[in-house]
Amino acid sequence: MTDYLDRLNPEQRAAVEAVDGPLLVLAGAGTGKTRVLTTRFAHILLQGKAFPSQVLAVTFTNKAAREMRERVAAILGQPAEGLWLGTFHALAARMLRRHAEEIGLTSNFTILDTDDQARLLKQVMEAANIDTKRWPPNGMMGVIQRWKDRGLAPEAVTPAEDSDYANGRGTELYAAYQDRLKALNACDFGDLLLHVVTLLRTKPDILAEYHRRFRYILVDEYQDTNLVQYYWLRLLAQQHRNICCVGDDDQSIYSWRGAEIENILRFEKDFPGAQIVRLESNYRSTRHILAAASGLIAKNTGRLGKTLRSGRADAEGEKVRIVSLWDSEEEARMVGERIEAARRSGTSLGEIAILVRAGFQTRAFEERLILLGLPYRVVGGARFYERQEIRDALAYFRVMAQPADDLAFERIVNVPKRGLGDTAMREMHAVARAEGIPLSLAAARALETGAIKQAKAREALRELLQGFERWRAMLPVEGHVVMAATLIDESGYAAMWQQDKSPEAPGRLDNLKELVRAMGEFESLAGFLEHVALVMENDEAAEGERCSLMTLHAAKGLEFDMVFLPGWEEGLFPSQRSLDEGGEKALEEERRLAYVGITRARRVAVISHAANRRIYGNWTSSIPSRFLDELPANEVVAEGGAQREARSHSVFAGGGLFAQRPRRTIEAGAWEVKERPPKEGAFQVGERIFHQKFGYGRITAIEENRLDIDFEKAGQKRLLDSFVEKA
Ligand code: ATP
Ligand code: MG
Repeated sequence: MTDYLDRLNPEQRAAVEAVDGPLLVLAGAGTGKTRVLTTRFAHILLQGKAFPSQVLAVTFTNKAAREMRERVAAILGQPAEGLWLGTFHALAARMLRRHAEEIGLTSNFTILDTDDQARLLKQVMEAANIDTKRWPPNGMMGVIQRWKDRGLAPEAVTPAEDSDYANGRGTELYAAYQDRLKALNACDFGDLLLHVVTLLRTKPDILAEYHRRFRYILVDEYQDTNLVQYYWLRLLAQQHRNICCVGDDDQSIYSWRGAEIENILRFEKDFPGAQIVRLESNYRSTRHILAAASGLIAKNTGRLGKTLRSGRADAEGEKVRIVSLWDSEEEARMVGERIEAARRSGTSLGEIAILVRAGFQTRAFEERLILLGLPYRVVGGARFYERQEIRDALAYFRVMAQPADDLAFERIVNVPKRGLGDTAMREMHAVARAEGIPLSLAAARALETGAIKQAKAREALRELLQGFERWRAMLPVEGHVVMAATLIDESGYAAMWQQDKSPEAPGRLDNLKELVRAMGEFESLAGFLEHVALVMENDEAAEGERCSLMTLHAAKGLEFDMVFLPGWEEGLFPSQRSLDEGGEKALEEERRLAYVGITRARRVAVISHAANRRIYGNWTSSIPSRFLDELPANEVVAEGGAQREARSHSVFAGGGLFAQRPRRTIEAGAWEVKERPPKEGAFQVGERIFHQKFGYGRITAIEENRLDIDFEKAGQKRLLDSFVEKA
């Protein structure tokens, strides 16, 4: 029963069979590192070297853990039970529950999410008389996270590692925060590993227990481990030294989250005599794709360096396609068309992925896929219109469009926090019930009648209601796009995220900008909101295969037949942040991300860039990414896309959120405010039409761009005209 070994090349096989002693597999993308790790797992079990529960296997994502469990089961021919297989966090949490008492928790401790964390930290800071306006708790949270990533408990923070946060009171606050967590029987994410490491360091008997338990340790995506993860692995492995790590320095893309590429060098030092295996055959991608990726990553300095050749039988394949487009809508259209064509010629949707640099980019593609009726999933995140900041902003817009929308009103009345908490809400609800009126009207009444008791709440509510009036008055004069941008600024909503120092905050601000940009494609606020409602309705789970949308970060370790890599423009990819930071370090990490992106493709890689992006009414022209120039010319083929000259005209000269870092804006003023082009051949009542989801039907009424349709199968529906075609 060793045929599973026959599916490996000699180097891979050596890495699988050398089960004892430290081993590091350092190899490029698609060379079978994960396959080696999985096979090694099964091999250890089949050789009787250990029981399933005696192997510790670490993956980077839960998805990877699931896949590894399935693959091990397939090789074993039965489901593997009792495995210690998962992400660092999941495994550490499991260990910590078993010994919680040892560090002053009970085994049912709570794991706080970042909101809880921030709230708790704020309390701690206020108790210490720190001005939390000047020193926002989220900043402190970042500092604490970095200490935890480096394995530093409060007492271990040396002056050299200290931060100047809150005038040097950082460690004091950290200690107080940790005390509060313990008092609440709670942990934050960073604590999971930190506590376990502390435990293993201070309780030799517990460490010994784990030495007996875990005879073998396996680690995937090793290049992205941080220090505390490394310490944990080293503690567990130090006795039997049966640890196998696989990784690729060229795919290290999480340094912003504390990952340390030095862990690779540390490994050789801490485990002297470690075997180093290199794999050089890539089995994933065809030759052109591989050569394009290799050529690109060769521009990075400070690499460990490696050879990579194609190990695929159908090696040559197609060149990497580079498509230049006029704007992002055209880009989304191009991707949609190619996905449809691929599907027609037999590619399963499950084998297609769109990989973006920034989360906001998914919006244009999601809308296109919905329009085409192509099922998709957003991996590692929410669909665009379901993201928290988008739902919040939409709630504000709904209140503008429809003052009686109580649900929307309730969602945003105290977001950002303005002192309109539970008490004020109860008072408003009482008025609404008594008078039988919607909440926003009740709010105004409550102000008049003095039903709101607290002066601070009264003031805040007055200001909010005045805001509502002002923004609503803008609608007929300046239009919904300007209204939206102004509202997001003046309501304090943008500021809320600007002050938020969590790593997700900048992405949320980008999403808000994208939302305003999307609104520009509609004639009215009502039209836009209706579009969103329809898009959301389309979201219901589809059966069968779907194509995947995700960020490049989320794509690590995965592979697809066909990969789209849109938005390769300076300021987007490489990201503006990496450019602002200056220096080669940040840029090299972006280049590694590009390498990860290209190497996800088995057969087809399509890279695209748009010449223009409309940013809140401004057309800005964008410069193609430098990474495009760095791709070896022989491996790529350019397709389509006349580059017309971009003009700029401002429909909105705002500050705040929309104070734009200029990319390259050409002032001209000749550009007309973009009008929605009239749809070719307007629809007529009685006409037969087709809709991707509902099938054939006949138009019974038309109101602006909304159609009432009597579908042959699906019955009566009201839809936007852009969703239906003439039959
Ligand atoms: P990444 O760096 O992207 O994580 P990896 O090194 O982990 O890649 P795998 O995902 O293990 O690579 O393998 C890439 C692809 O090549 C997979 O489809 C795998 O099944 C296939 N593969 C690996 N080794 C072989 C082999 N010896 N023969 C045929 N196919 C192989
Ligand atoms: Mg892998």
